Amino acid sequence: MIVLFLLIGIAPMMVQSGIMIRAYQQSQLESRMQEIQNQCTILSNKLTRGAYLTSEPRDTLLDNEVSVRADMLNGRIAVVDKNYRIISDTFSLSVGRFNVSEEVIKCFNGETTTRYNSRDRYASLTIPIYANDQNKQIEGVMIVTASMDGVLDSIVTVSERASFLHLILIFILAILVVFLVNLLMKPFVKLQRMLNRVEEGNLEEDISSHEYKETERLTEAISNTLKKLKAVDQSREEFVSNVSHELKTPITSIRVLADSLMSMEDAPVELYREFMTDISDEIDRESKIIDDLLSLVRMDKTEGGKLNIAQVNINGLLELILKRLRPIADKRNVEVIFESIREVTADVDEMKLSLALSNLVENAIKYNVEGGWVRVTLDADHKFFYVKVSDSGIGIPEEFQDHVFERFYRVDKARSRETGGTGLGLAITRNIVLLHQGAIKLSSKEGEGTVFTVRVPLTYIP
Ligand code: ADP
Repeated sequence: MIVLFLLIGIAPMMVQSGIMIRAYQQSQLESRMQEIQNQCTILSNKLTRGAYLTSEPRDTLLDNEVSVRADMLNGRIAVVDKNYRIISDTFSLSVGRFNVSEEVIKCFNGETTTRYNSRDRYASLTIPIYANDQNKQIEGVMIVTASMDGVLDSIVTVSERASFLHLILIFILAILVVFLVNLLMKPFVKLQRMLNRVEEGNLEEDISSHEYKETERLTEAISNTLKKLKAVDQSREEFVSNVSHELKTPITSIRVLADSLMSMEDAPVELYREFMTDISDEIDRESKIIDDLLSLVRMDKTEGGKLNIAQVNINGLLELILKRLRPIADKRNVEVIFESIREVTADVDEMKLSLALSNLVENAIKYNVEGGWVRVTLDADHKFFYVKVSDSGIGIPEEFQDHVFERFYRVDKARSRETGGTGLGLAITRNIVLLHQGAIKLSSKEGEGTVFTVRVPLTYIP
């Protein structure tokens, strides 16, 4: 920004002063040339009037006049006669020689020339001299060379002054620009400071900056991101505390069972057997929680959600799941119905999807009523296949419907425990469905039943 502002400030200044100095130089040179020409014309008139070229011998007064004029011009005046012979020269170097230059010939033809030699810093002119006042016949040519040093020096002085002024202006501009840029960047510097504090771990930092619309939008986005981060942090903490609690419960039971056995003297073998069976059940439960936790962690998106995708016949997969679960259903006197509307083959991870759908059907059996039914329907369109698991069970009250997919969430803790639930089944199912780029939704009415619908794309795009 500093460089840009300086360029924007300096460039027009430079261009303008360049143009002005050039114009000044031009006008100075032109006026000096004009002055030289005027003086020479006056001299030429005098020479004409005094018949300088025709009178014999030559008027020494006029010679004098010529050399005075040459001195005034800080230059040299030479006079050439009709025969191109130099008859007088204020430098006395070339008297008697001939000058047949282009300018002299042109001048004899009535065309005066004015030339400026910038390299050697002088102006040269040719002015005609006439025979006399009456006779306007060109009798000779005056060649004038005049120094332009005075003018050029004054131009140099002016441009030096301009450069000095520029330096001062650039210096002032630089100070102003640095000050201005600092002022403009202040909100961003403040924002950076806030972010540094967040980076140090202070997630509670209030990030807000209302100075610019941009910083306002930026800080809003950062605040939202921080809020999400905090939520993730909190949910992780909750998860860890839930896991500890869940893992501790069976261990506590085992401890109570073992302690009470030990405190009993001469306890009968039957009691031992009974307590040992309970202890074994608790161990099973613990191991199921650990298994579920492991599947959940493996399903986590951070693991990259590695799916072992293959073409799988979903009808076959569902039939296999139902075959495995039918014995549990029979035990509870629940009828399981499979309704396949069409044959479906899709790109899925067979193991994982099978676990996800098993969880749904198992829940439908577990949370059912005596003599109830579970209906599994498979349908597809050109993009997705749909698995609907409906049951005639106890249903999920409206207020819990949003929570059942959370880890360790159970509506009825006692019943879930009794049926061997860990509260992780639906969380696992949802993760698997999401990994397959699908969706899961539920609709339920307390006391009437529940419908879980899973939608999964037929082709998997990594
Ligand atoms: P759990 O291991 O306890 O079954 P899930 O994550 O599978 O854990 O389910 C979470 C809770 O959702 C269950 O405890 C239960 O209260 C409720 N739930 C799940 N499926 C059904 C269903 N089909 N009918 C009624 N309640 C259900």
